[in-house]
Amino acid sequence: MIFETWWLLALPLIFGLGWMAARFDARQLMSEQGALPRSYFKGLNFLLNEQPDQAIDAFIEVVRLDPETTELHFALGALFRRRGETERAIRVHQNLASRQDLPDAEREHALYELGQDFLRAGLLDRAEESLRRLMSGPYAAPAKHVLLELYEVEKEWKKAIDAARELQPLEQKDYSVQIAQFCCELAQDALQRKQPDDAIGWLQQAARENPANVRAPMLLGDVAMAAGDAQGALGHWLGIEKQDATYLPLVADRVVKAYRQLGDDGRALEWLRGLLKTNLAAELLDSAYRAELEQHGAHAAAVLMREQLRRQPSLQALTKYFEAQAAEVAQASVAVTANAADVADGEPAGCAHDVEHEQEVSAIRDLLQHRTRNLARYTCRECGFRARLFYWQCPGCNRWETYAPRRSEALG
Ligand SMILES: [Zn+2]
Repeated sequence: MIFETWWLLALPLIFGLGWMAARFDARQLMSEQGALPRSYFKGLNFLLNEQPDQAIDAFIEVVRLDPETTELHFALGALFRRRGETERAIRVHQNLASRQDLPDAEREHALYELGQDFLRAGLLDRAEESLRRLMSGPYAAPAKHVLLELYEVEKEWKKAIDAARELQPLEQKDYSVQIAQFCCELAQDALQRKQPDDAIGWLQQAARENPANVRAPMLLGDVAMAAGDAQGALGHWLGIEKQDATYLPLVADRVVKAYRQLGDDGRALEWLRGLLKTNLAAELLDSAYRAELEQHGAHAAAVLMREQLRRQPSLQALTKYFEAQAAEVAQASVAVTANAADVADGEPAGCAHDVEHEQEVSAIRDLLQHRTRNLARYTCRECGFRARLFYWQCPGCNRWETYAPRRSEALG
């Protein structure tokens, strides 16, 4: 390999260039630092000394002298809002939004941030006012999104429907699930105002918006039932099976009530017994147990739960079985006591044994009830929030229809 002598010349040249580049960078940095107004350092100092209000004043002065530093303000505003200091975030963003010399894009950005600050501070009217000023431009879609959240918080369902419709093309997203739910909310409002015709109108619209919506037929059934039309109510509720059978357990008790009103308790029990053979059994145990107990007594309920235990063993079925057993033993004991009262003097044979058995069964029932009481919970698919009641809108993440109508068990 031949040693290339020109390398000897190139090396010092490269070092020289490197040294010059470093000096150039340092000089540029120094000149940039020199260009920053003194208020910037004053503000930084206040911020580091945990004097945020004085810091804001200093930074507002910076942006007056040098409009290029708006990014600093947005960062500061976002920081305050994240820390829950909404008043300070509002001050920073308000200052930006009111500056006429800022480019439109930055002022719109400030209005958007301001809307979120007001929302966070619970000043809903002012949030709406800020966001409504952004109906075009790059912040139109995110602003409408925040407006939609705001209308949901305010329960302004008609405005929510309009906002969702406007968002659909902007976000290329289907909002039919939400719109149908907003119609159902309007129907519920109408029912509270005792205006069933209005409610029916909204529910029919909900079904048109989203034919898979189950809440609409549930509520239509309630309206029919309230009007004394049990047969009509059954039509709506049993029709849910065709939409999505997993929602049937949510209407099980209403179906039982409607059949009872029609004087056909037997049909309700037949319907429930049939469903106990399906994969919906776990959700229907309570309803089936109660219907059997009321119609045929504790012994029949115990037999039904024993059958269920053989078919699909579960802690819930075992609990119900012991509930029925305890009820049966208690009934027998009442009968024995009544008989004993008839027999003059002397305890009937086997009484001590019965009491012992009754106590044993009750103890097992109590233990099982204690173990299973908080076992089953509806769980949000999105955020995992667990709830004893079924919600159409998750209280944890505010999303719609994220709860499966099936409770899941989690042993703590
Ligand atoms: Zn959730």
